[in-house]
Amino acid sequence: MRTKLRGICLVLCAFLIFPLWGCSSKDHSKEKIVLETKVSTTESKTPSTIPTQKKGSLAGAKIVIDAGHGCTVDYTEPVAPGLEPTNYEGPGTGTCGVSTKKPEKTLTLEIAKALKKELIKKGAAVVMIRSKKGTRLSLQERAEKANSSKADFSLRIHADGLDDPGVNGATLLYPSSQYVGENLSHKSRVIARYILDSYCSSTGLYNRGIVERGDLTGFNFSKIPVVLIELGFMTNPQEDKKMSQRDFQRKMVQGIAKGIERYYKSK
Ligand SMILES: [Zn+2]
Repeated sequence: MRTKLRGICLVLCAFLIFPLWGCSSKDHSKEKIVLETKVSTTESKTPSTIPTQKKGSLAGAKIVIDAGHGCTVDYTEPVAPGLEPTNYEGPGTGTCGVSTKKPEKTLTLEIAKALKKELIKKGAAVVMIRSKKGTRLSLQERAEKANSSKADFSLRIHADGLDDPGVNGATLLYPSSQYVGENLSHKSRVIARYILDSYCSSTGLYNRGIVERGDLTGFNFSKIPVVLIELGFMTNPQEDKKMSQRDFQRKMVQGIAKGIERYYKSK
């Protein structure tokens, strides 16, 4: 008993001392990233404690949801491992709703949270990369966090924007094989096709097809299959309004979830 107590004490002391070391660090940016990761790790652990994984069409599935943008710091990072940092990201990135004036980061978080609920209802475990308005995680760090979750795949949520307000519709992006290899690229492509087709039939949005990309940091650092949904165009006045309506958001989320279900059934 005493040995046990001593052991518990040692563990508790380690937990108490560790944050003090973090606070004494002069590298504040790094310190905050560590804190963010810690908070998020707690979030990530939550789904695995939900005892619904034995039931439902997605029982046993583990999925990462990454609500795009919302970064609170400026940084540059490489497009792929081994390259020079050239890719800028920061608080200003992302598009904005022409009608709603809503930033892309807000829409992506709304859909991410609703999708999380829907997937958990169907029995899946869900790992959220971002659950709050802001994050200090870079795109590379988001990918690394998804990797460490050991999920089946990662779904990055974004919305599109262009100068031409007439352009509309949804697109699914997946990584080219250049940095992630043939196997991961192929698996991602299959997931992309299921999600896009189901999403477009549920929402009635124009299906712009699946697109292979080799220039995205968030893809090239991934070690699990990864896809990125462009929900629709926030620069198209009608589409922008629709994507913020409650009923329409339900269709968006159900469409994505059904696509995911179909993917798992096909395996
Ligand atoms: Zn985006």
